[in-house]
Amino acid sequence: MQTKESKGIILYNRAYKESDRLVKIFTEEAGKRMFFVKQAPQSKLQSVIQPLTVADFIMTISDTGLSYIMDYKSVRAYPKISGDLFSLSYATYLLALTDAAISDKVLDPHLFAFLVKTLDLMEEGLDYEVLTLIFELQLLDRFGVKLNFHECAICHRVGLPFDFSHRIAGLLCPDHYQEDPNRSHLDPNVPYLLDQFQAVRFEDLKTISLKADMKKKLRVFMDAIYDDFVGIRLKSKQFIDDLEKWGQIMKPEE
Ligand SMILES: [Zn+2]
Repeated sequence: MQTKESKGIILYNRAYKESDRLVKIFTEEAGKRMFFVKQAPQSKLQSVIQPLTVADFIMTISDTGLSYIMDYKSVRAYPKISGDLFSLSYATYLLALTDAAISDKVLDPHLFAFLVKTLDLMEEGLDYEVLTLIFELQLLDRFGVKLNFHECAICHRVGLPFDFSHRIAGLLCPDHYQEDPNRSHLDPNVPYLLDQFQAVRFEDLKTISLKADMKKKLRVFMDAIYDDFVGIRLKSKQFIDDLEKWGQIMKPEE
């Protein structure tokens, strides 16, 4: 057991026995850990163990068992995200994806900063669909998936109307489309934008604006990438997909 102070974000909490809770926190300085909160409803910790809460936690960390929250300060929540079903469902998906992408107890301060920054931008009102696409894209390498959206996988030329091949796991230029008869037939703007997103700086995000049909194309392609190369199905993602279908039904006819 050791005492540590670190920023952390609550990924989820779940019931344990009667009124105790298990709380998964992604901490900046000790990685992801499971914390035990006894008698949660009566505990002063009740308000800081809700998902999407960021705080400085003073913790007792155990490498073999459960860890404990001793105290906390500088609590921050995301009221705008939490007040909107759509942005909340996307933010919840980002938390679940983060949980799936790295192992417990493994330090990843870069991912911690990236997650918090992405949520900050969502809270500011930036497009949650675009932020989620960028997050998914940049998270691929945590799943061991390295895809190059910059150059043809065969001849390495750049700046062409590329398509994507799942079989080759890379781009094909028009001269090499025939290398894969089952190529994706993408709008060339899809790989172009993903290439931009791979190196995007947060300052640039405020100027990105994409039309609905372009976002839809990126979404379909990202889902195909996750299905094929990552192979996880998260409940929170299924919820977004269902929500989108409902959104379509609710929309007035154009
Ligand atoms: Zn080529």
